[in-house]
Amino acid sequence: MFFFFAGGLGQQVRQVLKSGAGNCIRCGSEADLVDYDKVLKLFFVPVWRWPGKHPLMYCRDCDLFFPQSLSPPPTSQIALATCRFCDRVVKPEFRFCPFCGSAL
Ligand SMILES: [Zn+2]
Ligand SMILES: [Zn+2]
Repeated sequence: MFFFFAGGLGQQVRQVLKSGAGNCIRCGSEADLVDYDKVLKLFFVPVWRWPGKHPLMYCRDCDLFFPQSLSPPPTSQIALATCRFCDRVVKPEFRFCPFCGSAL
C-alpha cells in the first residue's frame, strides 16, 4: 500500500519580539526572537493554525526556527578575560593567570 500525505506541520512568524536577539545555529547570521504560529498544511494549503507556546528564535537568512536555548549569545556578552601579560584567555573569576602566574 502506498500512502502519500502532501502536508505537514510548519511554523510561521507572527510577531518579532526582539530582533537580533541571537545568532543562527546554522549560518551564524543574526536571528530574531519571535512569536510564531504553528500551521498545519494539507496539500500546501494552510488548514489550521494555532499559536506556539514559547517564543522561538528565527533566522531569516535560512528560514530556520530553533529554540532560544540553542542560540549562542551575541559575542559581546560572552564573559571572557584575557591575561594582560601572556594574552591567553582565562576565566574572569581567576585572580591569577594559570599560564604565567601573573596577578590579574
Ligand atoms: Zn541562518
Ligand atoms: Zn598570563
